[in-house]
Amino acid sequence: MNHKRSRALYDRALSVIPGGVNSSVRAIRPYPFFIERGDGAHVIDADGNRYLDYVMGYGPLLFGHDLPEPVRAAVQSAASDGPMYGAPTEVEVDLAEFVTRHVPSVEMIRFVNSGTEATVSAVRLARGYTGRNKIVVMEGGYHGAQESTLVEGSHDAQRPSSSGIPQAFARHTLPVPFNDEEALRAVLAEHRDDIAAVLVEPILGNTGIVAPVDDYHQTVRELCDEIGALLIFDEVITGFRVGGLQCAQGKFGIMPDLTTFGKIIGGGFPVGAVGGRTEIVEEFTPAGEVFQSGTFSGHPVTMAAGLATLQFAAENDVYDHVNALGDQIRSGMRDILADRAPEYTVVGTDSMFKTIFTRADSEIQSDDCETGCQQDRSCTRFSDCPKNGSDVQCAETDRWERLFWPAMKEQGIFLTANQFESQFVSYAHTETDIEETLEAYKMFFE
Ligand SMILES: *Cc1c(COP(=O)(O)O)cnc(C)c1O
Repeated sequence: MNHKRSRALYDRALSVIPGGVNSSVRAIRPYPFFIERGDGAHVIDADGNRYLDYVMGYGPLLFGHDLPEPVRAAVQSAASDGPMYGAPTEVEVDLAEFVTRHVPSVEMIRFVNSGTEATVSAVRLARGYTGRNKIVVMEGGYHGAQESTLVEGSHDAQRPSSSGIPQAFARHTLPVPFNDEEALRAVLAEHRDDIAAVLVEPILGNTGIVAPVDDYHQTVRELCDEIGALLIFDEVITGFRVGGLQCAQGKFGIMPDLTTFGKIIGGGFPVGAVGGRTEIVEEFTPAGEVFQSGTFSGHPVTMAAGLATLQFAAENDVYDHVNALGDQIRSGMRDILADRAPEYTVVGTDSMFKTIFTRADSEIQSDDCETGCQQDRSCTRFSDCPKNGSDVQCAETDRWERLFWPAMKEQGIFLTANQFESQFVSYAHTETDIEETLEAYKMFFE
């Protein structure tokens, strides 16, 4: 593969953009390929190389790169009417009504411009509503580039995970391991009346894909109720993907107090949203006292794209298609690994998938988890499958990044460049695409 133009573009970018990229995860080593355009399930780079794409913009692209005709028409029409106004438009109401109809816990919703802005606003809202300061987060969880959640360490020795964040801010954030009921119980007991909210992804989507153990979220819900803290589901990645239009909360049967959205809800355009019970969401200004505002919020082009996307998904076989392909790729990978790398773990659900290069020494992934680890307690390797962020950190992360990713790229398959980020199948992928991908996996594990 020739990468002459990508190399030259990256060389230029390094002089004017920090690290040459506008989002750190894109800085693939030794240098990223620059995308010229998308084509269905494929992307074509600046040197004309074609890749089957499972990155899908890191989550927003449910249909792949060609928007279905009604979505394309809605976007073009909104853009040609003039980009935005600083006054409300009908399409914001339409999208809000659509979301409240389909997502069980959402009665009211405020649109913002990114997943990060959604979690910032949700945390402020929870603090304003409860009059408490502390939030509990999961180690290995990701809630965007924001001060309250860029925190690492344990709940009694936490520190900012980025330079530029005062240590004093980190004091208000209490990380606990995902899937560890006892750890959560202890932290909630210790800080009882100071905890505004527990902020959790229903499935860890940015650290390997880790599913909840049976009843974990039910327990989290009950523990929050006991101390009067809010439960915030960060569904930025799972929203309108896992569980279809009802989102992961519908699939798991959990009613969070607040939910953050992003990615798919904007149909490929910049977006975020905070939804939940009216009583809480109405605390946002101007209805209530928690300040929230944004020049671009509820942007008409984004709202039109999001609404047309969700309507198209409601009226077509989108979720059946992507979930079936998800099962096909996960069970195919599991069969390949059973023979060649039984210590590895296939994870994911619906249209999310990943292989975690775990160092499991128990038996191969069982039939119960044939289409991705389900954290099934009866599974023979239950104790070896990753339960939280640290378990994923212990995998052969370098092998993914330095050997596996480049080998797959050479075969024309574009995966997420590190061990941690989820991968996605889209409506544009076909069974043949999946078979081709499995052949490439097979060659690597030969
Ligand atoms: C992507 C993501 C975010 C951040 O969204 P941005 O739009 O990148 O700011 C927050 N939470 C989760 C779970 C995400 O996957």
